[in-house]
Amino acid sequence: MVVICTHEACTGCMACVNVCAHKAITIIQDEEGFERPSIQQNKCVDCGVCQKICPINNPPTLTSPLQVYSGWAKNEDLRLSSSSGGAFSVLAIPVLQRGGVVFGVTLNKDMQAEHIFVETETDLYKLRGSKYVQSRVGDSYKQVKRILLQGREVLFSGTPCQIAGLRNYLHCDYDNLITVDLICHGVPSPKVFDDWKVWFKRSFALKDITKINFRSKKTSWIFFHLAVIGCTEKDETFEYEGKYYEDAWIRGFLRDYFLRPSCHQCKFTKIERCSDFTIADWWGYSGNSAQDKDYERKGVSLLLCNTAKANSLFVKDVMTSFEFKKHTLEEAKKTNLSLSRPFARPSTRDAFWKDYHSMDFMDIVKKYMYPERLKLSTRIKIKYQKNCLRDFILKIVYRLEKYI
Ligand SMILES: Cc1cc2nc3c(=O)[nH]c(=O)nc-3n(C[C@H](O)[C@H](O)[C@H](O)COP(=O)(O)OP(=O)(O)OC[C@H]3O[C@@H](n4cnc5c(N)ncnc54)[C@H](O)[C@@H]3O)c2cc1C
Repeated sequence: MVVICTHEACTGCMACVNVCAHKAITIIQDEEGFERPSIQQNKCVDCGVCQKICPINNPPTLTSPLQVYSGWAKNEDLRLSSSSGGAFSVLAIPVLQRGGVVFGVTLNKDMQAEHIFVETETDLYKLRGSKYVQSRVGDSYKQVKRILLQGREVLFSGTPCQIAGLRNYLHCDYDNLITVDLICHGVPSPKVFDDWKVWFKRSFALKDITKINFRSKKTSWIFFHLAVIGCTEKDETFEYEGKYYEDAWIRGFLRDYFLRPSCHQCKFTKIERCSDFTIADWWGYSGNSAQDKDYERKGVSLLLCNTAKANSLFVKDVMTSFEFKKHTLEEAKKTNLSLSRPFARPSTRDAFWKDYHSMDFMDIVKKYMYPERLKLSTRIKIKYQKNCLRDFILKIVYRLEKYI
């Protein structure tokens, strides 16, 4: 019996499902709600292609970043509607203007994350913004190949394991393909996300959730804010904005209880990358101009050019529409921990899942996704973000806290 890769290591990239010519691999949901390939023995001819193509067994060639930038889209609307500084849109728009196709992740009408492609700038909003839950790749890699063979330009964006899956599936380099991966903290369980939505709707007596913005910038970017728009049972519009230390989804996500098990041993969360470009948040930005100073609300991107193709696209497509600064790789490593290594599996992960299968979701929220008790300095920072006295007060509090 063919075993594609170990259960623990499987990232769910679905290269095996896309490649199987005998349609012998179906997708099932495991007990934690993650999608997994499942071989139907009556259809399998034991050819072993699925094992060979699996990026866990045969990782694609990785490259060290050639250039490191921080920056943001000069178009303010793009910047504000993106999760970091809008690097993704800056890369995607020229491809669409040349008649190309852009693949990325959207939340569909059931608020589930899935890969789709768009062909117009008007539709690009569907892919904009991080969806902090694992996406369904479906048969996207097959669609990418079909479009590439038509000679059209394709930009494919996703987590590093998804890019590795796509590259192995394609098996060779295409001049008309641009790959963009994210620095990835890990992908949360779609099942927990579904349960969170049901719990959220019940908590606020909602009929429907119509929009989820995982990184709302209404009041802050550095402090993750999750925003929800919905409709109440009385047909009134509902708006919610949860701060990172009090919103249950963001709390659970950042505490790592329900990330895919493979994320804790990810082979692609490292400096060497498998994509042309890598995008992420640039933390700890500093600068003296007025626009440098409002980065805490508007967001800053980290952009790595990992290949010669990325370097030339940066000059051709990015430079004019992106306000950028050049950095060293060492600086990038310091600002973003997930660039160098995956987050460790929390010791309480097993306890979480044991409880998850036996407790009501409301009790799971109370036990594992409860609000954070913030340090005094952080509370002041949030409250007085725009106050000129803030730095002075913070300095004193930081000093005092050392002695508490
Ligand atoms: C699960 C997850 C974990 C992340 N972890 C980190 C981290 O630890 N550190 C960090 O600096 N940045 C992380 N990011 C990336 C960050 O949140 C931004 O998505 C990234 O910086 C791009 O922002 P942007 O402003 O350039 O464009 P945006 O328009 O905000 O980005 C949209 C891009 O994200 C892709 N995308 C959205 N959701 C998903 C998804 N579920 N799976 C795959 N691709 C998706 C879209 O296809 C598109 O390419 C993570 C993103 C996700 C989805």
